[in-house]
Amino acid sequence: MKPSKPDAKNFLDLDSDLDAVREKYKQERDKRMRTDGAAQYRELTTEATLNDVDPYVEPGFTRAPIEEETEVVIIGGGFGGLLMSARLREGGIEDFRIIEAAGDFGGTWYWNRYPGVQCDVESYVYMPLLEELGTIPTEKYAHGPEIFAHAQAIGRHYNLYKNVSFQTQVRALEWENGAERWSVRTDRRDHIRARFVCMATGPYSKPKLPGIQGLDEFAGDTFHTSRWNYDCTGGDTTGGLRNLAGKRVGVIGTGATAIQCVPHLGRDAGEVFVFQRTPSSVDIRDNAPTDPEFSKTLEPGWQQRRMDNFNILMDGNPQEEDLVGDRWTELTRGLHEVLSAHPNTADLTPEEIALIAEAVDLKKMERVRGRIDEVVEDPATAEALKPWYRYLCKRPCFHDEYLSTFNRSNVTLVDTDGKGVDKITPHAVVANGREYEVDCLIFATGFDVNSNYTQRAGYEIVGRAGEKLSEKWVDRSSTFQSFFTRGFPNCFFMMGFQSGLTPNIPHTINEQTQHLAYVIRETLDRGATTVEPSQKAEDAWGAAIEKGSSFLEIQATCTPGYFNDEGKVGETEGWLAGFYPEGSEAFFALLRAWRASGKLEGLELS
Ligand code: NDP
Repeated sequence: MKPSKPDAKNFLDLDSDLDAVREKYKQERDKRMRTDGAAQYRELTTEATLNDVDPYVEPGFTRAPIEEETEVVIIGGGFGGLLMSARLREGGIEDFRIIEAAGDFGGTWYWNRYPGVQCDVESYVYMPLLEELGTIPTEKYAHGPEIFAHAQAIGRHYNLYKNVSFQTQVRALEWENGAERWSVRTDRRDHIRARFVCMATGPYSKPKLPGIQGLDEFAGDTFHTSRWNYDCTGGDTTGGLRNLAGKRVGVIGTGATAIQCVPHLGRDAGEVFVFQRTPSSVDIRDNAPTDPEFSKTLEPGWQQRRMDNFNILMDGNPQEEDLVGDRWTELTRGLHEVLSAHPNTADLTPEEIALIAEAVDLKKMERVRGRIDEVVEDPATAEALKPWYRYLCKRPCFHDEYLSTFNRSNVTLVDTDGKGVDKITPHAVVANGREYEVDCLIFATGFDVNSNYTQRAGYEIVGRAGEKLSEKWVDRSSTFQSFFTRGFPNCFFMMGFQSGLTPNIPHTINEQTQHLAYVIRETLDRGATTVEPSQKAEDAWGAAIEKGSSFLEIQATCTPGYFNDEGKVGETEGWLAGFYPEGSEAFFALLRAWRASGKLEGLELS
């Protein structure tokens, strides 16, 4: 029989009523919507307690200012800066300088050293350049120190330590007409003049704090998770937080970071209060050491094939085999299993497919919520831990000990029913009108990904006509291919907005850096001094981005969070300045085809 409209509920044998769940999702969203959106957050302070000082370097570093001319300045020494440098070196460009705020390479993996820090994406697809370095991660989901060490190994492999200035922050970028160079000034009084500049500043480089009343008055130890204070807690990324024995610890936030560090706090601290505004979806982790036989099966080119396979599935497109085969790819796997079992797949309308996708999503969320009931003993706590939104509304999390941590007698979930913490006093956190006294207060409150680019980067960029980037992008970021923006010649962005979206950020970086290295090489080889997009190309790219992606469409109905500009999709700037609508794999294919044509179409060289 040919169903004209699939009844998603019957078709998938759902336990819940789709309409009732939609209503519940809406209620939970409405409860959390607030007028101030991302403005509810603030930066780390310069106060002694919640400061933005690097805890991993010796204080008092000084060096003489640098005055130099170079071909390329790369801002950022995380995977973005490392891969950009590696690609330049491969392309025969030796004259470049990396400027990095931290004391070593690693970016997010340098800063995030909280206990339990681990990669949520399979390390065989996440950790870049594995084949180039001839290495294989020790676990399916590697822990932070191994990823940080891998970043350092990339630095050594490509001899990048000689090109980098650590503990240095760019303060200003200005285009010098005539000289046709960028003038780069730093907080170390460096003045570097570069033909090209690459912005590899990363999406999670600026920690944020909630603008809660009394935050600066807290008298105990307090820090953000990306500035973990091991002097205060004792231990290291593997745990053993011995200084917290007998202490009362408060954790604000229940995102991907909290999910990983709370189990350690529960194990080692006297008492732990986890202040929750919105629960994360916490799926099975299922980590395993790398089977020694696995590396023997790998043929050259395996990593790119595996990354592509993961990515195509994450774009929602089928693959014969799911090489990673984890909970990330489950949604697409599930959708295509259902569609292939459907008697008339070819006749389904986009609306019908969207309905089936929604039902597959619900099925998955039913399982995620069901797992909480299975693991968490106290029914009220279990209920409060349940996420009521579609799977990709918030960054999915995976952990096999987070939920059971709430079975410990020393751990209390303080659910605020979407309201968040009320205020902070010198010795306590106030939530639901009640005071929770704590000795140590940890902010697992994430990163600023939603403000405009220059605010996040920490420096202004002044282009050819004296125009400031913050002014050009005041209403809307505008790029060609996500990298180039008119009026700012030889200036390249690697932020991810207006490009293809994938949870495997190093994959995007890998594609981006190959593209930019090609553009730089071609510009030089063609004897040009500047490259920038034509207005027409930038407008056309903007129009394509405006079409919107299904991710953003769903985000508009999601519970607030950084994925949807705190519920303000399309209203604000930042990370959500649109994505390539056809998905990341199509975006990467477009870049490859563009390079293969050799025409540099859309760019003007002079
Ligand atoms: P998130 O932005 O994901 O989480 C911040 C948390 O703080 C949320 O739970 C938020 O609640 C909560 N919060 C904010 N304000 C308040 C308040 N006033 N009262 C109570 N709670 C509040 O930050 P994370 O650091 O957890 O993660 C950031 C990103 O870093 C992840 O999404 C992920 O992409 C990446 N990451 C990656 C890892 C990996 O394995 N590769 C590991 C860890 C992080 P609400 O949801 O209501 O806003």
